[in-house]
Amino acid sequence: MHLNTHYQALHEQYLFSDIARKVNAYRSEHPDAQVISLGIGDVTLPLAPAIVESMRKAVEEMGNAATFHGYGPEQGYPFLREAIANEYAQRSVALEDDEIFISDGAKSDLGNILDLFSADNAVLIPDPVYPVYVDTNLMAGRSIRYLKADKQNHFLPMPDPDVCCDLVYLCSPNNPTGAAYNREQLKAWVEYATGKGAVILFDAAYESFITGDDIPHSIYEIPGADSCAIEFCSFSKMAGFTGVRCGWTIVPHNLRSGGMSLNRMWLRRQTTKFNGVPYIVQRGAQAALSPEGKQQIRESIAYYQQNANAIHQMLTQAQIYHTGGQNSPYIWMECPGKMASWDFFQRLLAAVQVVGTPGAGFGKNGEGFFRLTAFGSHEQTEEAVRRMREFFQMREDGRGSCVRF
Ligand code: PLP
Repeated sequence: MHLNTHYQALHEQYLFSDIARKVNAYRSEHPDAQVISLGIGDVTLPLAPAIVESMRKAVEEMGNAATFHGYGPEQGYPFLREAIANEYAQRSVALEDDEIFISDGAKSDLGNILDLFSADNAVLIPDPVYPVYVDTNLMAGRSIRYLKADKQNHFLPMPDPDVCCDLVYLCSPNNPTGAAYNREQLKAWVEYATGKGAVILFDAAYESFITGDDIPHSIYEIPGADSCAIEFCSFSKMAGFTGVRCGWTIVPHNLRSGGMSLNRMWLRRQTTKFNGVPYIVQRGAQAALSPEGKQQIRESIAYYQQNANAIHQMLTQAQIYHTGGQNSPYIWMECPGKMASWDFFQRLLAAVQVVGTPGAGFGKNGEGFFRLTAFGSHEQTEEAVRRMREFFQMREDGRGSCVRF
């Protein structure tokens, strides 16, 4: 018996447990402190009523012999694939229904897609990054080359024609930086991938937070992307499905290599290793895309966007460099006074009891940066913003900057 020794290359994921440990230590020393977390990456608002109602009906169907559903199609029920295809059609992206695969969320498919690719492929991954891209490749023993995202490129690294790769991960709007690629930038990536014969693994999990007209919601809004990109999307942040679990992956028919179709390979992979997403969940996801459901989920997204905007405004007034907050629930700020991200974490916690996520936890280039999120309540976010203003010694009218640093 031989183990997959590539697991030894994985770094332990201490980030969120370290944060919890430090916050708990602070709380035990200051039992009366009202600590507010802007570190949470999970939604907090409940499911929209249209979704709940649709799932309730689906539960009743499951309890009745005449309407009971057993195994469903591995690719997902046609009613949900059709609803997703309609969403893309509204952005002038024409998808055939067998190019859409319903998943139990973007994370599983982001990992599972690697079944289609040889272990000797060279992978390009931005840094800082959502750690799943790195770890799933390390587990398979692939060599990773990092793409530097920094202040200079506004955390939106662009392709370097001198760098070759077979797979490249793009996440827009990005976790953790909140930065989002515009049309021209994505066009450059599609041209690069087409030229190199590489595949873009495009993570659109936060597309529902996009407000800018020039920011594509899907990579397929760029001509030619259907020959070089796979897209992953999710109901998690869009419709509060983090605990319900549903997403989708697009593998276009035009994506082919060496006489093989990636769409057929993925279908084969899914029918072999996956038995589909529960009927009840898919009915809930369908309701999220109904006119009534869309109106309701738009309200929840707007709620989080207001939080993001409040944080963005406060940082803008404090003249603190940051990305995100406008097309994203994440705000990625530079730690003032060139502080290291864990030092800033401690300072902010001790001074005003606000918790965020140190950027160093998302990769080497995250050092010196800090992630704040918009998934809290209005009340808590407003209070955190008020305290941070105080921390940066700003007046209520926004004047003044961080004289303490
Ligand atoms: N992609 C990114 C960039 C994320 O931040 C997350 C979750 O936080 C996911 C994918 C996974 O989402 P899901 O809940 O659909 O698995």
